[in-house]
Amino acid sequence: VSVPPGPSCIFCRIVAGTADASFVYEDDDLVAFMDINPVTRGHLLVVPRAHLPGLADVPPQVGGRMFVVGRELAAALRAGPMTTQGINLFLADGAAAMQSVFHAHLHVIPRFRGDGFRFVRDHWSGSPDRTELEADAAAVRAALGGAEA
Ligand SMILES: [Zn+2]
Repeated sequence: VSVPPGPSCIFCRIVAGTADASFVYEDDDLVAFMDINPVTRGHLLVVPRAHLPGLADVPPQVGGRMFVVGRELAAALRAGPMTTQGINLFLADGAAAMQSVFHAHLHVIPRFRGDGFRFVRDHWSGSPDRTELEADAAAVRAALGGAEA
């Protein structure tokens, strides 16, 4: 589902100024703007200027900045006029994870009691025991290779 940078990518067009967006933040690496299809009022997106399709393509420094800016925007939403009661930070990596624009982005979603936005787990209701958790943890540690702390 990969899309090349440039006119076929809506976020590249927004970064280039050839598609409209309502910006709230810009720096050398990132922009942030209102989601055109918000799940709640005030829903923001933090987007690298570079066309980085997935999470693994995002350099650590840019990813770190995405989180820092997302955190600042969350504070602004909480301080602002929309009476935000909570925040979800959400990053969808891959179609199976509900990524729909293949230019990495972090959602900053203001939450309000009763807003109706839910994560629903209705297809897998596993309750693994400690043995299974330890086996999965070992598999993840092995995949990390030398990267573990
Ligand atoms: Zn792009």
